[in-house]
Amino acid sequence: MQESPVESSCPVCGDENSLKMIAHSTQIAYFGEHTQITLSCSTCGFKQTDFIPAEGKVPGVWTLEISSIEELNARVVRGSNCTVEIPELELAVFPGIHSSGYVSNIEGVINRFIDAINITKNQLNEDEKSDLEKCNLLLEKISKMKNGEIPIKLTLIFSDPMGHSKILNEKATFRELSEKEVEELL
Ligand SMILES: [Zn+2]
Repeated sequence: MQESPVESSCPVCGDENSLKMIAHSTQIAYFGEHTQITLSCSTCGFKQTDFIPAEGKVPGVWTLEISSIEELNARVVRGSNCTVEIPELELAVFPGIHSSGYVSNIEGVINRFIDAINITKNQLNEDEKSDLEKCNLLLEKISKMKNGEIPIKLTLIFSDPMGHSKILNEKATFRELSEKEVEELL
């Protein structure tokens, strides 16, 4: 384990001397050797984690068409610069200052979407009834798919300009990003 001060200022509070970085090498089951990097700020509590593969970093797009409940168990690594989309649910999570990398499975990714929908729902006020209805419909649709009440049909797309992300499933496809696409995502 290696702890070192960071030259740049905290992206959240702007403190110039409070940011530090901890890096250590770790084995992630099925994904192999990674460097886990955690940035943290002692002033405001900002924290960001990332997992960087030891080899095979190719900026690209991973896509998996999910058509069975079993596929929700497929493992994923999501880098902090990765955009996550599920077009069937009209949902996308774009990277931001507060996005951390994580290791999970597809069900875990969907649960993060459910949390995001619930947060949006709670922020809506009285005159946004149509949005509230849309959130409820989405939550209902996701829960019916997970319960097997309606056939599951979702596409999970990971677009990562750093090449830190991966969907581990034999049906998952990968295509490299062009330099122009990488620029647009960064
Ligand atoms: Zn800070």
